Amino acid sequence: MRLLQLAEKIDSEIDQEFSKDFKRGVGALLQPIRQFVKLSSYTYKLLKKCCGGDRVIDVLFHFPSNLSKRTSDENYFKDGEKLTVVLTVLKHVIPRYRNSPYRIVGQTLAGNIITVMYFHYRAPYLRRILPIGGTFTVSGNASHELDGIKIIHPDIIAHPQQAEHYVGSEPIYPLVGNLSLKTLRYAISSALKLIPKNLDWIPSDLKSKYGLVDFSDALWAVHHPESDKDLLITNEFRKRIAVDEILANQIRLKQIKRNQQRRSAIAIKETGEILRKLQLPFELTEDQVKCLGDIKTDLVSGRPMNRLIQGDVGSGKTITAFLGMLIALENKLQAVLLAPTEILAWQHFETIQRLSKNLNLEVDIMLSSNRKARKRQIRELQDGTTQILIGTHAILEDNVEFRNLGFIVIDEQHKFGVMQRLKLINKSKYPNILSMSATPIPRTLLLGCYGDIDVSTIKTKPKGRQPVETAVIGTNKIESLVERLKTIDSQIFWVCPVIEESESLVDVNTRCEYLKAAFSQEEVEVLHGKMKAYEKDEIMTRFKENKFKLLVSTTVIEVGVDIPNANVMVIEHAERFGLAQLHQLRGRVGRGNESAYCILLYHLPISEVGRKRLQLMKETTDGFLLSEEDLKLRGAGDILGRDQSGFDVLRFSDFSDNYSLVRIADEISNQMDLDSTKTADLCDIFNRVSDENIV
Ligand code: ADP
Ligand code: MG
Repeated sequence: MRLLQLAEKIDSEIDQEFSKDFKRGVGALLQPIRQFVKLSSYTYKLLKKCCGGDRVIDVLFHFPSNLSKRTSDENYFKDGEKLTVVLTVLKHVIPRYRNSPYRIVGQTLAGNIITVMYFHYRAPYLRRILPIGGTFTVSGNASHELDGIKIIHPDIIAHPQQAEHYVGSEPIYPLVGNLSLKTLRYAISSALKLIPKNLDWIPSDLKSKYGLVDFSDALWAVHHPESDKDLLITNEFRKRIAVDEILANQIRLKQIKRNQQRRSAIAIKETGEILRKLQLPFELTEDQVKCLGDIKTDLVSGRPMNRLIQGDVGSGKTITAFLGMLIALENKLQAVLLAPTEILAWQHFETIQRLSKNLNLEVDIMLSSNRKARKRQIRELQDGTTQILIGTHAILEDNVEFRNLGFIVIDEQHKFGVMQRLKLINKSKYPNILSMSATPIPRTLLLGCYGDIDVSTIKTKPKGRQPVETAVIGTNKIESLVERLKTIDSQIFWVCPVIEESESLVDVNTRCEYLKAAFSQEEVEVLHGKMKAYEKDEIMTRFKENKFKLLVSTTVIEVGVDIPNANVMVIEHAERFGLAQLHQLRGRVGRGNESAYCILLYHLPISEVGRKRLQLMKETTDGFLLSEEDLKLRGAGDILGRDQSGFDVLRFSDFSDNYSLVRIADEISNQMDLDSTKTADLCDIFNRVSDENIV
């Protein structure tokens, strides 16, 4: 509580200087942390990346993942444990050789002699921070050596009276790049001081009804765990924040629904005018027909459509959505398709152009990278020339307006936040929304992620598709694998988890060099997220045209890219991917009529859960089953990166016990005023920066 008082003081001191937000209930939480910490711009960038945003609240939402313990018992500590002692410095021993450590010998209150060692040091600095005769609190990794106790590179040197602060448990946080724990802790402790007192939006009667603690307390307490149990979602403080996150999402969804309903819906008629002229090169599957039927029913109902098409990658969702668009077009409405990446947007654009060749449609594509055309594009949207617009989040910009937008398709909906949906709705006259998702969302989660939504599922695969055969092999067999691959005609995807070398993971460039040596220089190319959009597009286009055989890439190819002649997918470090993602990746192959193979290449050591995942991948191709299993295994925490499961919308929930939280949040949201400032506070807090520009 001391901290909270301090926070109040700081609050009042800087209150005048800051914007309206700062004076609102949320206090400084929405301000950039930059204003409260001193960091180089490089470190600041790392911090922002690590926390997924740079507002005070983003830093506070970066939760500890572990605990380290410090003891003050100099007689009974274990080697490697952190020891805190109060030490009077007796002497400095300057090393005789360049590579030996600098030693500072001191005596504790209990009379033990302890040596503090530094391997990389600047002697004047050490003489200044630990002068002979001075008494200090010193804490760091300690060990028993033949000649006494040693502390190597202590991470704490403080006033002797502060020793008690450095005893007990302290949180460890996930880090990125070379951001140090110390820097992160500094940012977090600065942010903790800014938590406003009694910040809350849930009325107290509901809090007691559902056993929820106060928000401000929860925010503070998640950073002060006392035992490993406090790190679990079952901890009451974490639970409170998980509920709030779902609540914020529910409220947004309710606002969307209200905005949608406020706009007049029109009864759309299926005239057949355009659809009749369409010549599909194949017959629709049974589920595609059914799904299209659902869309028609929605459109003619006179109420706005809000529907989700769920179906595995390659099951034919896009085509179905396109047919739905055509019905809107028959009614002189415009349609838009929002995709999460440029590659995907291009692919949709090409598909739709191909299909609508003899329909005389005006189809346009809008990307952040083709700004030059923007003026003309906007004019053609406003005067109604453009009938179908495809694009990435560039479409969401304020100056993009439509004459008559009446049909919205959002691909891979879970890659976008609710805010984006709201933006598109506000651009449209008759907001009919069709979301598509290749990541199957278990029933229990639908309400939490999408709210009140109708669902159509496409299960039947287009005719002639072969199931992908999956093999699990260790990297020790990589040479014979490569020999086999040389003998086949198919193009090959080879996925690596990282771009640059790190924590003993094989990166794309290293693997590319290896494969270039094994195949040939011209047969192998690299693709990764740090490349420019046009470079990626160029490579994908050449791969699509079968100009080279093997594409080594990171998971940028994850969603939706369609290369019918690539029938082999190798996933390196498969043990480190989540099931949902493995399934998505596997879905890249088997899109033509040839039989397809997926090779899960694992590196040792491999965790029990990792093993289980690979086994499941081998046994089933059922996306729904894998998705459910993914949620169950998710807590295991050895998966790379953070938002890998595909359910980026909710990041504080542990989905195995999510349903009760969704129900609680739903009931609370029913009793909240959608337009109150408290509600706005809640929504702003959970509206992440990264929601704004995911790609
Ligand atoms: P999704 O969006 O579900 O990933 P797409 O709609 O992009 O799937 O379809 C994947 C591929 O299958 C495309 O090349 C598409 O032309 C083809 N396709 C879609 N429906 C059928 C069908 N009924 N019969 C044959 N091929 C189809
Ligand atoms: Mg798709």
